[in-house]
Amino acid sequence: MLWTKESNKNNALYVDAFSFKSLGSLNREYSQERKTAKNISCAKSDTISRERRLDGNQSFVKDDWLSASGLYNDSLCYAEPGSENISLAYANRSACFLHLKKYAQCLVDIELAESAGYPAHLMPKLQKRKADCLKLIEEGAQEPDDRLKLSFEADKNFPCMVNVLKIEKNAKGNLIMVAKEDIGVGKTIAAEKSFATCLYSKFGWRCNICMKEDANLKPCNKCNVAMFCSNECQASLIHEYECGQRFCRSTQTNGAIMNEMRMIFKAIEMFPNIDELMAFVEQAVQGDQKEIPQAFLDEKSKYRAFLKLPVNPTNTNKDDFWLITFCTYRMLMDMPKMNAMFKAKRHNRFLIHLIMQHVQIMSKNSIRIRLCSVEAAPRKRTDVCTHTGMLKGYFEHSCAPNVLWIDNNGYSLYITTRPVKKGEQLFVTMFDLLSKPKAERQRILWEQGNFLCVCSLCTGPEATPEQRKQLLSDPLYRSGGFDCLDKCATILQKHGHGPLCKEMKNLLDGYCMQLRFKYTNSTNIRAWAEIVSDSLSDE
Ligand SMILES: [Zn+2]
Ligand SMILES: [Zn+2]
Ligand SMILES: [Zn+2]
Repeated sequence: MLWTKESNKNNALYVDAFSFKSLGSLNREYSQERKTAKNISCAKSDTISRERRLDGNQSFVKDDWLSASGLYNDSLCYAEPGSENISLAYANRSACFLHLKKYAQCLVDIELAESAGYPAHLMPKLQKRKADCLKLIEEGAQEPDDRLKLSFEADKNFPCMVNVLKIEKNAKGNLIMVAKEDIGVGKTIAAEKSFATCLYSKFGWRCNICMKEDANLKPCNKCNVAMFCSNECQASLIHEYECGQRFCRSTQTNGAIMNEMRMIFKAIEMFPNIDELMAFVEQAVQGDQKEIPQAFLDEKSKYRAFLKLPVNPTNTNKDDFWLITFCTYRMLMDMPKMNAMFKAKRHNRFLIHLIMQHVQIMSKNSIRIRLCSVEAAPRKRTDVCTHTGMLKGYFEHSCAPNVLWIDNNGYSLYITTRPVKKGEQLFVTMFDLLSKPKAERQRILWEQGNFLCVCSLCTGPEATPEQRKQLLSDPLYRSGGFDCLDKCATILQKHGHGPLCKEMKNLLDGYCMQLRFKYTNSTNIRAWAEIVSDSLSDE
């Protein structure tokens, strides 16, 4: 029923999608959730701000700089405008940056502390930190961060990916990513800034708008949940719309709704009025759904490709789909600004269909980042944010992929993990399946991805004893030391192209783990990576 009109007439309205559902229970659920959300305050509080700073100090004395800076971020979020807590939190965070060897960020925080009225009697401490930091910079201690740098020249029309890739249509009509040249192991072939982002929890952890982590985050002046990496992100109208909005108490459900609301705000921001948005969307959804995109040079060309990302049509049978669509719609219409914008019946009906389209796209193409606690077993995994980029839609799944997807500072990085020959297709995986037996892989993919996998690992030949022997007798492999990225890459380059034996799978798994560790700022992933390389050395 998506994008169906009431008649064939020129000015016909879109059908009322909600009239096909019994809305009683959805309405009740909506009201209930909103009621519990009202009890969660997003007001500033100097008392909490001070508590969080003191908690941060506790982590600081245990040398846990990342946790400490996270708590100082919390402190900043809660600090009331004009309060001393602001300058104190910036100053303490600057000390974390110094220990984390982020000297430029340390200097910025010192400046922020000073301009927020840092107490005069403490100033000598801050000035000493500044002098120490400047000295370290002068000595060349600042390490350059080139993690977002592409390994080849960028494509002219798709600056987010390298010019040795192309997007092609395969025999089934699906868009796929293909290599135009041989590509070695460990090459960054794409760094795509997320098109849609949403933070679910741990708000003072990344920029609320672009998800940048490595930044001197500054709090929103009004609420206690959002921080921004730059004036540009702070000025974004997206947060102005969503500031103070909360759907429900549950972080996960709330995140799912806020994610969809944000996508509507983003769409609205691109066009001068709803009629132009409508014309653009209609043009995109009526055309060839599998057209090869021409370029990603501006937001509109990306939005067009976004609207054409693959969806799972059976999704609309699920209760979740209706809950998210309906509650997003109700939340939007409860906002006076949005209500005025979509007052006309034709705009209102269009909005419902647009939300449905977005929910379908996002449920198939968003990548959820989960934090995984390492202390407790069973490990607690929590979704903390989602990314939606377009490129992910063109990398098909393989259980033995040749590309690793990594989240870094709000970018999706694609790094080759096996040698790729000219003309070959590039694959990623969203589930860590390599070491699992086929039956289990297929079950997981069927349950979570709704497809039967026909990748090279599932249907191709297995590694021959001869291939395994070649790897095991290689002196480089025999010498061990698989915790070195370059060494793993060299072995993978030599032996990682064809079918994979058990030892090769372990090596590849370990290599991916180390890459994740290198490209992530999270301490949790670090512990995870260590666990895996332990089991590797047992082999
Ligand atoms: Zn930002
Ligand atoms: Zn806010
Ligand atoms: Zn497979």
